[in-house]
Amino acid sequence: MAWVFVVELLAAAAVPFDAARERQARPAQLIAPVQGYSNAAAKPLLVGDRAVRLLNLGGPAAAGLLSRIAANMGSAVERVEAFWGVDWSRDISVVATGTDEQFRSAAGSGPGSQWADIAAVTVADQVDYAHRVAVGQRIVFAPGAANMSESALRIVLTHELFHYAARVDTADDAPHWMMEGVADFVARPAAPVPAEARSAYQPMPSDIDLNTPGPTRSLAYDRAWWFARFVADTYGTPKLRAYYLATCRPGHPDALTAANDALGVDPAGLLAGWTQWMVR
Ligand SMILES: [Zn+2]
Repeated sequence: MAWVFVVELLAAAAVPFDAARERQARPAQLIAPVQGYSNAAAKPLLVGDRAVRLLNLGGPAAAGLLSRIAANMGSAVERVEAFWGVDWSRDISVVATGTDEQFRSAAGSGPGSQWADIAAVTVADQVDYAHRVAVGQRIVFAPGAANMSESALRIVLTHELFHYAARVDTADDAPHWMMEGVADFVARPAAPVPAEARSAYQPMPSDIDLNTPGPTRSLAYDRAWWFARFVADTYGTPKLRAYYLATCRPGHPDALTAANDALGVDPAGLLAGWTQWMVR
């Protein structure tokens, strides 16, 4: 059994979020499960018919972060529901940590170097696809997340909440570029694509690029986000959701076959449309 990590990074809080994005989000990691976080918080915050459990492991700074998360949870849930629908976990667990050690422990026992510059992770101990249950699922915020700007926090929270909602429909071997691109589609305002990216040929997003540190990875995350926007603009937002499911669900085919199934477009048509959308 593998445990997928969906790990996010954090852009420097002081930088306007759409300017210099230093995306360093990490690929999935195989980790040992950490038990006991799902029911650890006492009194849940109610958001509609969902119960949000906020667990503070980190003292006053983490308490401040959790109160900001509580204030932004309603709009994050709304955004996720607007895209994904309402049929997902009624229980949402959020953990705020105060030290790197706490973060590693709550997020999983990976080597410390894996966690540099990461704002939050969404992790589950185990996923039961047949019963559509993610056991021990939680969004874990790193200590540095307390320094995020309000807009950056909203984006990270919404992005993680999409992973949380989609987890029982996301296989362990789903393409990470699809997971990340759609999470950003749900979470981020649709900023214009920079001219230098429009004028250069952009291949299909790929996990190989996503796993290559440095500028390749940064561009790969942007490309995944733009690709999701291309699909939504061209075929409609509900089709992007269908394409995510076709590409990520257990037993999924490759992304081009999934495009044929979900969008009714062959590989040549998909690539032509993607190139047109980028240069438009
Ligand atoms: Zn993500």
